[in-house]
Amino acid sequence: MIAYTVYLQQIQELLQEWSKTYNIYVPTRAEDHFFEFRCWQPDMHIAWDYDLAYTSLKGFFLPPREDLIHFDLQHYTSSPVAQAPKQLLFGVHPYDIKAINQLDQLMNTDSVDVNYQLRRDNTMIFGLEPSRVADTAFWAGMDASRVDLGYDLFWTRISTGAFLVQVGSAQGEEMLKKGPAVDKATAAEKEAARRMHLRVSSVAARQSLSFPWTKVPEITGKFYQRKLYWRERAKTCLSCGSCNLVCPTCYCFDIQEETDDHLKQGSRYRQWDGCMLEGFARIAGGHNFRPTPWERYRHRYMRKGKYIFDKIGELGCVGCGRCVRACTARIANPKEVFIEIWEAVKNEA
Ligand code: SF4
Ligand code: SF4
Repeated sequence: MIAYTVYLQQIQELLQEWSKTYNIYVPTRAEDHFFEFRCWQPDMHIAWDYDLAYTSLKGFFLPPREDLIHFDLQHYTSSPVAQAPKQLLFGVHPYDIKAINQLDQLMNTDSVDVNYQLRRDNTMIFGLEPSRVADTAFWAGMDASRVDLGYDLFWTRISTGAFLVQVGSAQGEEMLKKGPAVDKATAAEKEAARRMHLRVSSVAARQSLSFPWTKVPEITGKFYQRKLYWRERAKTCLSCGSCNLVCPTCYCFDIQEETDDHLKQGSRYRQWDGCMLEGFARIAGGHNFRPTPWERYRHRYMRKGKYIFDKIGELGCVGCGRCVRACTARIANPKEVFIEIWEAVKNEA
């Protein structure tokens, strides 16, 4: 492992240097006291010890709404739209890197999503070892407390004034060398980073699943037909879609077109959609494949626990705990659902 030691007082100079090329986004405490990634400004306080950003990072690659094509109805011409400014996401926790790695696979299955890929190619990711665990998080049990790929640099705070920075790509290492001189990390500093990881992982493990995540696809598959369970579980669902919106691994979108009042010019755009919304599975003619909240709720957990696994061999949930926090009905909770199903299946065996 190639790693360097970077001191806290060196970071401002590095950020100044990087900001000449990149829009930099860092975790900070927002007005409503939740943490959010915001565009870095020199006087900004970076929340190195944030536990969870309220909004996931998928919007940096798949914006809530974006134009795909502009067309001219008078001349019958059209042109693709793709905007991808260079951006640096600094301070991304491993579970969110895992979610981005998953989106990379899913957005390029069957055919490449050009707009997504362009943004992804223009994005640098600097990971950060969490120092605190959100009370709703359960990532330690979802195979998401460590990532081996998907970052250019990975930062671990090893003391109040220093970080161990592990190199993930040649471009990341090059960026590190653009600022003040940094030294290669010593064995003792690498050991300090390892201990930091163990410390936070053991805290996270206390609130993780009570059984191996690899069992989730099998047990959720078995529970598909348990309509009574899903009806009861979803009886207070408001179909608001908040759990979809905050989820870093939900990537569904809808494509529509609009024109100006004179029918001269228009655009084709896409915007986020969500499987918990009533109209998500409605098709031409008015038929809806999942007309009731409980059917949509079941679908979401089948997707998180089984369907994505069947596609790429990973669960569609990284255990960030955002949906748990966002659900006003207090029913969006993959850990709770998977444990309930696990207990029921175990008792029936
Ligand atoms: S389902 Fe919930 S806990 Fe899992 S990744 Fe999505 S928002 Fe996070
Ligand atoms: S589970 Fe919760 S957040 Fe999701 S749609 Fe229902 S009420 Fe909204």
